[in-house]
Amino acid sequence: MTGDVILYSASLVLPITAPPIVDGAIAVRGGTILHVGERAWVRSSLADRGVEAREVHWDGVLMPGLVNAHTHLQYTGMASVGDAQYEGFEHWAVAFNAIYALEHDWRAAAAEGAAMALAHGTTAVADVVTDAEAASALHDAGLHGIAYWEVIDWSNEQWRAEGRAMVEAALDALPSPPGTGLSPHAPYSLEIAPLLDIPDIVRERGSRLHIHLGESAIERALEPQPNEAWHEQGLASLHELRQAGFGTSATDYVDHLGVLGPDCHIAHGVYMTDRDRAILRARGTAVALCPRSNAVIGLDEPPVAAYLNEGSPIAVGTDSLSSSPSLDVMADVAELMRIARRQGYTASDLAERLLAAATLGGAHAMGLDVGPQRTGYLAVGARADLTFFDVPFTDRGATLEALALHGAGRAAGTVIAGELRHATQAFTQQTGARA
Ligand SMILES: [Zn+2]
Repeated sequence: MTGDVILYSASLVLPITAPPIVDGAIAVRGGTILHVGERAWVRSSLADRGVEAREVHWDGVLMPGLVNAHTHLQYTGMASVGDAQYEGFEHWAVAFNAIYALEHDWRAAAAEGAAMALAHGTTAVADVVTDAEAASALHDAGLHGIAYWEVIDWSNEQWRAEGRAMVEAALDALPSPPGTGLSPHAPYSLEIAPLLDIPDIVRERGSRLHIHLGESAIERALEPQPNEAWHEQGLASLHELRQAGFGTSATDYVDHLGVLGPDCHIAHGVYMTDRDRAILRARGTAVALCPRSNAVIGLDEPPVAAYLNEGSPIAVGTDSLSSSPSLDVMADVAELMRIARRQGYTASDLAERLLAAATLGGAHAMGLDVGPQRTGYLAVGARADLTFFDVPFTDRGATLEALALHGAGRAAGTVIAGELRHATQAFTQQTGARA
């Protein structure tokens, strides 16, 4: 065997795709996981193979790096918008648009957001990019994930005349790694032609899709519905559908346009009926839940308990600082814990399922849970994307609960592809490892 081996060990290791391991360890070589198991077993396995390893031991929790499945890093400088409280999506959008129109250094703001994400234990991000200066934030920070070029406000006519060519050029200009994709903003902010074309543009390239869906109350299904005759009417937009009296939900609408699929994940998923959620499951489309952003904007709470009970693929996103207090995914996990319990979810696996949503769930939402670059869980052959949390070990169940409810602000060390990229002073003092 060649290359240095590092043994990362902790009081509790959460592989996510296997049960929690008390006094566990993972061995890492060349950015990839070599062994996962009990610390003593991993050590003896290495010794049996004649491999010397340097050990980094942490009294706390070691888990896969967090995956922020929905944010806009370039809005990191727009916290003045996110600090207020709004009465709904349209109210928030007025405040957002006023600040967005000012002059910004999008590159610097996105870089600052990437640094914050790393410090919160995030190793992969679904980053929606609206301005080209912000496009290289993930690439420059060495974060994994997908940079999605945002497509917004195109009429059918302008799209055909110039929009499509401009968007294809913008997509092809995104720096890689990380992965790339397109984000048609929302069903109501684009007319029908771009919503039809964008899935084909990404699918021709094997790229990814991401859309805000079920975030604005206007997207909910209205009576009378369901009625699928709308797509035979030659209507130009969701707005025209509504004017023509069709009550179809935005989810049903984009489904008919071919937007959904396993290569697409949605953000928010708040205004969703049983039928909408069934459509998402049938298409293999995951939902990035962003409950703190929903609260700031004044939306209803997402139907977390329903998603969990129905077995929908879920992930966790912070959204941007223009609608959320921080880029700490763990703060949204805590909020989802509280919402799910209020909504009647009583099973004892809640913490474990939401921690899985914040790691493997996010990787799955972006198609990063399989293939040679797989991440979001701790297993042999996956990328060594790891986070250490300053949460003391008591017993398995109580520690998972404490992590899910109080993990925010307690990321102590962040490892991307085997390299320690962020460490608190406490982490460096205890382990001797520095970023
Ligand atoms: Zn968003």
